[in-house]
Amino acid sequence: MKAIIIGGGVGGLTTALMLHNRGIDCEVYEQADVVRELGVGINTLPHAIKELADLGLLPRLDAVGIRTHELIYTNRFGQEIWREPRGLDAGYDVPQFSIHRGKLQNVIYQAVRSRLGESRIHTGHRLGSFAQDESGVTAYFFDRNGSHRATARGDVLIGADGIHSLVRETLYPNEGSARWNGSMLWRGAIDWPKFLTGRSMVIAGGMAAKLVVYPIGEGAHEDRPLTNWAVLVKIGEGGTPPRKEDWSRPGRFEDLMPHTQRFRIPYVDAKALIESTPEFWEYPMCDRDPLPRWSHGRVTLLGDAAHPMYPVGSNGASQAILDARALADRLRDGEHAYHALWAYEQERLPMTAQIVRMNRKGGPEGVIDAVEERAPDGFDNIDEVLSFEQRKAIVRGYASSAGFAQAQVNKTAGKAA
Ligand SMILES: Cc1cc2nc3c(=O)[nH]c(=O)nc-3n(C[C@H](O)[C@H](O)[C@H](O)COP(=O)(O)OP(=O)(O)OC[C@H]3O[C@@H](n4cnc5c(N)ncnc54)[C@H](O)[C@@H]3O)c2cc1C
Repeated sequence: MKAIIIGGGVGGLTTALMLHNRGIDCEVYEQADVVRELGVGINTLPHAIKELADLGLLPRLDAVGIRTHELIYTNRFGQEIWREPRGLDAGYDVPQFSIHRGKLQNVIYQAVRSRLGESRIHTGHRLGSFAQDESGVTAYFFDRNGSHRATARGDVLIGADGIHSLVRETLYPNEGSARWNGSMLWRGAIDWPKFLTGRSMVIAGGMAAKLVVYPIGEGAHEDRPLTNWAVLVKIGEGGTPPRKEDWSRPGRFEDLMPHTQRFRIPYVDAKALIESTPEFWEYPMCDRDPLPRWSHGRVTLLGDAAHPMYPVGSNGASQAILDARALADRLRDGEHAYHALWAYEQERLPMTAQIVRMNRKGGPEGVIDAVEERAPDGFDNIDEVLSFEQRKAIVRGYASSAGFAQAQVNKTAGKAA
């Protein structure tokens, strides 16, 4: 068995490590000339971290990320709606990590380099097309100028090439562009004074206007960790975004600043935090409808290529890692490629499709929307707006559907909120 992996993001690189671990040959083809630490903060959930821990990566994650201690939901005035412990503090065997996306990718990338060898990763190789036949699949790669660079032959081809996946487009040529829900997400990170436990994540506000703040790593000074922020605001009706979705598109102060006064949270001066950040990025909230199938003969999809979802509920990278585990297990089982890819899809497609749909309603953060709908100007007593059991039902409903409810059910500190 030899696998051709398209894309050197978290999904593609984790797949390479897992296949290597199971004695399956693979090569990764990444269009970027260099794997650079792009993006800002993401959270990776315990069930995905467990997979990385099993690959021996926990010490390296600890060196660059923060073990998330708690998650707090508030309305946009900073009034607390829900609070719960996370990761080890919630009773899991492994932590949840708040981490820079580029650093997470780099931890996995360095492991691929040292375990599989440099010769197994081909940067500057953009997939242009592929074709499959009875005995294998052939992929054609090009450089940034469009010149042919290489041709690869394998038993299976795994499209881990992100939200603008060429593999997906080839399988579904009439699908069209990703769907915008009318919200813009601005994201940035800067060293900032520690707040609360130093490992707390705060989400303030629902889908109309939301602020997210959490530390993602060490800063230049011990009491000023690198702190991630994100502002999500509904600015349109959806359809085609004002600028095409691109994770690396710089944001503009004049677009963001009018919205920063909408948030008041007691833990951080949000306006100062955002205004102090010299560069930040914008991303229109885009996803795609779940597909009926990912696997077509010897070709399948993984990660954002298979199930691009709104970045809420900490599931983008987490679900890509879980895909990698499921696919590697199926390929190891020695079944025919067709059957292995089909079985992988059976295991992963229904659950990820459900998460895509739940994220459209705000994911677990839907509890904030439910409270803001009933009490748009704030509240004196949260229990009079929505009871603890009602709030728990929304948050836990998401956690169990996304496959990480287990230990947290009886451990929540939300009752004290
Ligand atoms: C630059 C960047 C920054 C991001 N920043 C954030 C962030 O700040 N917050 C957040 O929540 N999520 C961010 N994401 C998305 C997040 O990484 C994913 O949701 C999640 O990690 C799943 O990853 P993936 O490997 O499926 O896809 P991705 O991380 O998108 O990786 C896909 C990879 O495939 C490569 N690729 C695409 N087309 C081809 C081709 N034709 N041939 C070869 N290679 C190809 C891309 O260059 C990329 O490296 C970012 C993604 C990228 C690419």
